[in-house]
Amino acid sequence: MIRVRGLRVLLGGATVLDGVDLSVAPGEWVTVIGPNGAGKSTLLRALTGAVPYTGSVGLDPGVEVTALRRRERARRMATVAQSPAVPPGMTVREYVLLGRTPYVPPLGRESAADLAVADEEIAALDLVTFADRPMTTLSGGERQRAFLARALAQRAPLLLLDEPTSALDIGHQQDVLDLVDRLRRDRGLTVVATMHDLSIAGEYADRMVLLAAGRVAAVGTPAEVLTESLLATHYRARVRVLPGEHGPLVVPVR
Ligand code: ADP
Ligand code: MG
Repeated sequence: MIRVRGLRVLLGGATVLDGVDLSVAPGEWVTVIGPNGAGKSTLLRALTGAVPYTGSVGLDPGVEVTALRRRERARRMATVAQSPAVPPGMTVREYVLLGRTPYVPPLGRESAADLAVADEEIAALDLVTFADRPMTTLSGGERQRAFLARALAQRAPLLLLDEPTSALDIGHQQDVLDLVDRLRRDRGLTVVATMHDLSIAGEYADRMVLLAAGRVAAVGTPAEVLTESLLATHYRARVRVLPGEHGPLVVPVR
């Protein structure tokens, strides 16, 4: 689905990513973890061709992401950025409908089918009671669900999520991740996410990538990446890792 080779990104004269290799198989859920400033958001942005890079970001069947037109890219991959801009004066329904932009003909309007898709995602994200409210009046968590609904309305096979649960309470974190996982199975989506909560990250990911200072420090199953020694080295964190039902549980210790 994605094949990244020798990815290098320079921002403001600094090397933010260096020598990153990563392959993501169709239907896989890969979660990128790493300390603040490690380059997680930049990696997701490079996958969408939104930052200049050297090296290669290949998509099936062997096309470079930057070779695709904007519209075509948006039909293939939907992104939820870490803190998306909220357009003022837009209701939730209007905002979610933005996800249909890559399907609306130039100078055309959204079709009835586009409106139906938006309403379907509004229902899936438990936003029906908010549909006609201005985006600006939503709580952080409600807004986060609207961001996800907009991305899902894009109906792209690849979903890139930058800390999709950071504004959510623990119940809504599980709701959203369960939903993404169900969609992954039902619609065959491929998911690349970044996440901060390591236990939850490990429970949903097939594979994890630990980024540190712009390089891949470890890649493997959650059990291979979430180890006390890797987390001590790269986060300077004191943690215990306990076996859990769906992956290792990372517990900070004083
Ligand atoms: P993460 O998401 O892992 O916290 P980011 O990818 O946002 O990290 O940022 C990685 C590094 O790149 C940080 O040190 C950040 O300050 C730097 N960076 C990000 N954007 C720019 C920019 N436009 N100019 C200069 N440095 C940047
Ligand atoms: Mg980030």
